[in-house]
Amino acid sequence: MEKMQPVIQIEHLSKHFSIDNGFFTKGKKTVKAVNDFTLNLEKGKILGLVGESGSGKTTLARVILNLTSATEGTVLINGVDMSKCSAAEKKELRKNIAVVFQDPLSNLNPRETVMSSIMRPMVLHGMKRALAREKAREVLESVKMDAHYLNSYPHQLSGGQLQRIAIARALAMNPQIMILDEPTSALDISVQAQILNLLLDLQEQHQLTYMIITHDLNVIRYISDQVAVMYLGQLVEYGETKIMCSNPSHPYSKALMAASPILDPTMRGREKEIMKGDPGSLIHFPSGCSFHPRCRYAEEICMQERPEMERIGENHWARCHLCMQK
Ligand code: SF4
Repeated sequence: MEKMQPVIQIEHLSKHFSIDNGFFTKGKKTVKAVNDFTLNLEKGKILGLVGESGSGKTTLARVILNLTSATEGTVLINGVDMSKCSAAEKKELRKNIAVVFQDPLSNLNPRETVMSSIMRPMVLHGMKRALAREKAREVLESVKMDAHYLNSYPHQLSGGQLQRIAIARALAMNPQIMILDEPTSALDISVQAQILNLLLDLQEQHQLTYMIITHDLNVIRYISDQVAVMYLGQLVEYGETKIMCSNPSHPYSKALMAASPILDPTMRGREKEIMKGDPGSLIHFPSGCSFHPRCRYAEEICMQERPEMERIGENHWARCHLCMQK
């Protein structure tokens, strides 16, 4: 059978920023936010991207969205490298990929009604206003909100309603891919479940592909098909959600899973994996395996040789010398 082309292909992607050393010291230093990241995402799949704050998840999303350029490597959306396209081609390609942020209030103009906010991207892409108005009604209905909310202003709505509107606005351009950056972390727990269920319904109806960035592993367990774990800008483990949540292999993934409160009673009582120290620095990278200063299994080789990403099972990859010895 012919293999389907992934909708997102990330190949050896790195993103480094140069920043000033500080007020008293001259010179620059380099922040290595994303380092040699390779991953494919197939159509209709939900990928959960997890890692501590500062692990490079949001920078990775910004490079995928072409909001910032890559230092090295490529991102192909449906086989096309957006960074090599003309402005007009980029505008067209951007319709395929939508983004929903954590705090919808900060992304909606407080002086605009819901109708205007949803219509804006369509009008900017040249759609006639009457058609855009019609589409705004349609997408509001698809996020299960009544049409009377079209005349509301952001301050009149709850957090859950605002997030539904952000999702409706993202849907308005009929995207294939949605990048959701912490889509539920600003919401009450009861509302979180409603938003996750809505996202699952929409994904099924429209055959959407999601990349969900979160530090909440219960969100990942509930919604995603695959999990990618990032540490200091690197992909350290990737696999099917079931394997990743029940039996992660990389010591960092194990510690992350163990640190998360478990809502699933069948998974309680597992062995706790304790991580020592603070998250490392994206400026002063450790030698060898970047996780070695915090890893209780670290051996001599871990300090000297950087582990490569290797297949350790069916649909399961990890970057760890120890995982390879099993
Ligand atoms: Fe730990 Fe070594 Fe594996 Fe890195 S390579 S995660 S230090 S065991």
